[in-house]
Amino acid sequence: MNINPEQQEISDIRELIRKKGLRSTNARITVIQKLKNTSSPVSHAELADMLVPKGFDKATVFRNLNDLTDIGLVLRTELGDHVWRFEYNDPDNPHEGLHPHFYCIDCGSVTCLAEKDFLPIPSTESTVIGNITEILIKGHCKKCLA
Ligand SMILES: [Zn+2]
Ligand SMILES: [Zn+2]
Repeated sequence: MNINPEQQEISDIRELIRKKGLRSTNARITVIQKLKNTSSPVSHAELADMLVPKGFDKATVFRNLNDLTDIGLVLRTELGDHVWRFEYNDPDNPHEGLHPHFYCIDCGSVTCLAEKDFLPIPSTESTVIGNITEILIKGHCKKCLA
């Protein structure tokens, strides 16, 4: 029996949402699926642009982003420009949780950085600082420098 990769992905996501105690609605599955396949955090507006053509309205996308953030499957980030950006938070890979973001002050692009690109990241409950929610690095991206 052949299960195509997309069906497999959808059933994995459905399972993930159910495990967290939410109903796995079509909208929620689609939101996670989109976020899984983008390499950097996206704003609600960007996500809505991708999902409205699929028949979801903006309010539905927003509500589901918030629901998925509440259960920890989605991370919400604010990088100093007053725009919330959202990305998938893989529960099997908790190190993906708190990671630094690079924000280009020229074009506004956002890049996720891995721990290996930097010094070890302090744990979220740092005794020196308090509770870390965001690590932000700003500069000029390669594209803008070229
Ligand atoms: Zn740039
Ligand atoms: Zn990120």
